[in-house]
Amino acid sequence: MKERKIILPEKDMPRRWYNIQADMPNPLQPPLNPATKKPAGPEDLSAIFPMALIEQEVSSERFIDIPEEVLNIYSMWRPSPLYRAYKLEEALGTPAKIYYKHEGVSPAGSHKPNTAVAQAYYNKAAGIKRLSTETGAGQWGSSLALACNYFDMECKVFMVKISYTQKPYRRSMMEVWGADVYASPTEMTKSGRDVLAKDADSNGSLGIAISEAVEDAAGRDDTNYSLGSVLNHVMLHQTIIGQECHKQLEMVGEYPDFVIGCCGGGSNFAGISFPFLHDKIRDDRKVRAIAVEPEACPTLSKGAFTYDYGDVAMYTPLLMMYTLGHDFMPPGIHAGGLRYHGESPLVSQLYNDGLIEARAYGQEGVFEAALTFSRTEGILPAPETAHAIKAAIDVAMECKEAGEEKTILFNLSGHGHFDLTAYDDYLAGKIKDVDYPQELIDQSIASLEKIV
Ligand SMILES: *Cc1c(COP(=O)(O)O)cnc(C)c1O
Repeated sequence: MKERKIILPEKDMPRRWYNIQADMPNPLQPPLNPATKKPAGPEDLSAIFPMALIEQEVSSERFIDIPEEVLNIYSMWRPSPLYRAYKLEEALGTPAKIYYKHEGVSPAGSHKPNTAVAQAYYNKAAGIKRLSTETGAGQWGSSLALACNYFDMECKVFMVKISYTQKPYRRSMMEVWGADVYASPTEMTKSGRDVLAKDADSNGSLGIAISEAVEDAAGRDDTNYSLGSVLNHVMLHQTIIGQECHKQLEMVGEYPDFVIGCCGGGSNFAGISFPFLHDKIRDDRKVRAIAVEPEACPTLSKGAFTYDYGDVAMYTPLLMMYTLGHDFMPPGIHAGGLRYHGESPLVSQLYNDGLIEARAYGQEGVFEAALTFSRTEGILPAPETAHAIKAAIDVAMECKEAGEEKTILFNLSGHGHFDLTAYDDYLAGKIKDVDYPQELIDQSIASLEKIV
């Protein structure tokens, strides 16, 4: 029988996270205080984050130890399996070898608990009793609810209203794990009330929900804010994924030519690719890392590399990143987790330095790829994940044309069991490509020039 599933023994689980800040050819630009526009220091962040995470945010240590309590919880579903996609390869008739890392095996169904558990741990250790956050499609909210439940903390989630209505089961899941969930914009915060005063029927957006969650955390001593992507410490926590892949591929004598991840705020892409970029930067390995985004929200492909806010109300520090503008309103595509205007500063800097590549795809091709994958490998991927699958299939077909036996690794960031409405729509022919108009992107970016 062919070796299809590569299982890393629990005792060989990586015990440190990899911090790519130690190895980047060009360092990050500092975040700026939103009021003074001067570089933000730890004191600017300490109202909403514990010091341990602020230290990780700016650390230049190459490896950071994973606390024992976090490892204990990781080991409930980690190391996650790495699969060789024999049936997909066969269907494509490609000489390429395709491997995928299955992060959908976590209790919340995605990679997000890798950072949620770490963040809850450090907040608990700092004496914090309650975490507030936003969630779009519900994947981050359910991951943080799960983590708070493990550490006996309260969790308050501002859920983008359109998802709250369209994805009731993610909300149920958060409530089962003990979180309080509200449809954002709410009347509970000033930023929510401001939005509702202008548009009482607002569907909400991630940018608005972030403003509400930050406001909630800044207003209470017992509460901190928690972000599921974008920030450096989140990218750091996700590197457990790529480090495991590194060991698993070694077990079968492989090394990837391509490492692929879908890209919303950048965390699952960073998680799988940074440990390989370590080799590319330090040992000159020729690995190509590809970040895949939707055409409807093409942050890396069409955005500007500049300082911008993380939220609509402009409460967050300014980050130097690829952005479509903090007032960018992405069209309502099914990959809710990829509809964010900004991008991780680490991923942005690496893209600007030419160390990684980006591709953008329309929804139709992405769902077609999801079906091909489900009908060969059996696993039903999240619509976000399907972007990575589309790119992996494209690369495999390019290998076929060139007659090249390359090795492709992609991150299966989550399963799609809560996204079946999207699959229904696709099967009914109701999913269309939505290309965001260039002039709206240009307008939104032009308005950024006045910021700094
Ligand atoms: C949230 C999410 C994403 C996008 O977020 P990143 O920070 O870019 O990883 C991708 N896939 C799944 C399954 C998600 O839940």
